[in-house]
Amino acid sequence: MTQKTLGMIKPDAVEKNAIGEIIAMIENKNIKIRAIKMTRLTKKSAEEFYSVHKGKPFFNDLVDFMTSGPVVPMILEGENVITEYRKLMGSTDFTRAEEGTIRKKFGSAMEKNAVHGSDSPENAKNEISFFFSAHEELGIF
Ligand code: ATP
Ligand code: MG
Repeated sequence: MTQKTLGMIKPDAVEKNAIGEIIAMIENKNIKIRAIKMTRLTKKSAEEFYSVHKGKPFFNDLVDFMTSGPVVPMILEGENVITEYRKLMGSTDFTRAEEGTIRKKFGSAMEKNAVHGSDSPENAKNEISFFFSAHEELGIF
């Protein structure tokens, strides 16, 4: 089943000049990049994006980190891309991430794990419209 997901390169990976290598890892898995931009989250938008984690001990650090620099959200498309891209990302904790994953290669701390990916079709839909207008999603202007 072809589906879409929202991928995002986080501020730590942008700072490391790893955008190109991460995009190459995604494309090498035969995942299509359908839309892409660079933007910066405000405190309010980061809190909204990660609202499921509100109240957790790491929430404030996560928001500080996500607003510390630009991010690169992407609409990704492919067969079972939600699961396949999360496999490519690797474990949330970079010390447990498997060889060949993005987080194994670029993760450096619990929150500094280089990339985000939606975890369900419903979240993918919501997160895509969080970052992209209907025009951008369709690739027309
Ligand atoms: P993401 O949602 O960013 O794709 P994930 O789904 O693998 O990551 P979540 O449980 O949704 O993991 O956590 C969201 C983000 O919060 C993680 O990617 C990480 O940056 C940060 N995080 C999660 N758990 C912790 C923790 N215990 N301490 C610090 N930061 C954490
Ligand atoms: Mg998550």
